[in-house]
Amino acid sequence: MFAMALDKVELSHFKQILLNERIEVMEALKTFGLSRNTDGGYDTNFADISQVTAEKGEADALIQPLRETLVEIDDALVRIEDKAYGLCVKCGKDIPLERLEAVPKTKYCTPCASLVR
Ligand SMILES: [Zn+2]
Repeated sequence: MFAMALDKVELSHFKQILLNERIEVMEALKTFGLSRNTDGGYDTNFADISQVTAEKGEADALIQPLRETLVEIDDALVRIEDKAYGLCVKCGKDIPLERLEAVPKTKYCTPCASLVR
C-alpha cells in the first residue's frame, strides 16, 4: 500500500512556511554573529581566557539549537523538492496534516517521533 504524497498546493503552502521560518532563524543567527563582532570577537590575547570561554559557551548554547533548526528546515525543503515531504522517514507513512501544520519541519509521524526522542 502506497502512502499519499501531498499535492502541489499543500507542498507550496509548507514550503512558504519553511522559507519564512528559515529567514527568521537566519536573522537570529546574524544577530548573534554581529554581537560577537562588536565584542571584538574572542581575542584571547587581551581577554581573560576563562571569561572568553564562558561567553563563547553561552553564545554557542544559543546558536547550536538555531543551527540544528536550520538543518531541519533545509532538510524539509529538500524533501519538498523530492516530493518526499509529508512522509515519515522512519516508517514511510503519511504524517498527519495537523502535525505538519504544528511542526512543518518534522520528518517523523507522531508515533515515530515519540520513539526517536
Ligand atoms: Zn513513522
